[in-house]
Amino acid sequence: MKTLAAEYAAALPGRDTHSLMHGLSDVQLSFLPMGERDGAYDPEHRVILINSRVRPERQRFTLAHEISHALLLGDDDLLSDLHDAFEGERLEQVIETLCNVGAAALLIPQTLLDEVLTRFGPTGRALAELSRRADISASTALYTLAEHTAAPVIYAVCAVARLDAEDPEAPEAPGKALTVRVSSAAPGVKYSLRPGTPIPAQHPVAVALDTRLPIAQDSYVPFRSGRRMPAQVDAFPDRHRVMVSFLLPTRGEGSAS
Ligand SMILES: [Zn+2]
Repeated sequence: MKTLAAEYAAALPGRDTHSLMHGLSDVQLSFLPMGERDGAYDPEHRVILINSRVRPERQRFTLAHEISHALLLGDDDLLSDLHDAFEGERLEQVIETLCNVGAAALLIPQTLLDEVLTRFGPTGRALAELSRRADISASTALYTLAEHTAAPVIYAVCAVARLDAEDPEAPEAPGKALTVRVSSAAPGVKYSLRPGTPIPAQHPVAVALDTRLPIAQDSYVPFRSGRRMPAQVDAFPDRHRVMVSFLLPTRGEGSAS
C-alpha cells in the first residue's frame, strides 16, 4: 500500500486537493455534508465524496484515504492477497488501516520526511515542522515520524484537556490539565505514553506551553504509573499544544529506575 501510494504521489504535480486527484482522471470529486461520515469512494460510479462539514485538514486526509481505496481496488494482486489472508469484518478493518497508511504516504513525501529529520533530528520541532509543511494533523505527522525514527524516541502531542465536562471553558480554570493527547514511539522502543497521561507542572513540556518558548533539556518521561524515566526532552510549543520528543538513554547509559 505504501509503495502504491508513494508511486502514485511521485507522479502528481503537487499535494493540494486538485493535484492529489491528478492520477485518477476518471474519478469525480464531490464535497457535500455527510453527517458522521468523513468520506466515501464509490467504485461503481467512480466518485469520491468528502464531507464538507469537517475541518479542511481532515478533508484533505480523507481525500488521500479515499484515493487509497481507489488505488487498492485497482491492484488485483494486493486485493487478492488481502482476501486470502482476512475475511469479514477483519478484512474491512485491515483495508481501512491500509488506506490510512496510504493516505499518510500520499501526503508526506519521503524527501520532506528525510529533510525534516536531517535538519532538526528526531525532535518535537521536527514533528511541528512536518505537520506544518505537509499540511497534515499532528497525529498523522507523529505516527509517520515515529515509524521513520532510528533513535529510541517517544513522541507526544500534549495539550490542555478538560478533566471534567462540567468545567468552564477557560484553559486556566481548575479541572483542566496538561496531558498527552497522542503518542507514538520509534520501532524497538518498548515503552509507551498513554493518552491522558498528565504532565507535571514543573516539567519542560509545561514550561514550554507557559512561556511559548522551545525547551531542550535533560528531564524525564512522566509515565502514568508515576515512574520517571530519564530522557532528553525537546518541547516545541505550537499554538495551544506542545510537540514533544523524549530521547531515551541507550542501553548502558543512565538508569531507568
Ligand atoms: Zn475507508
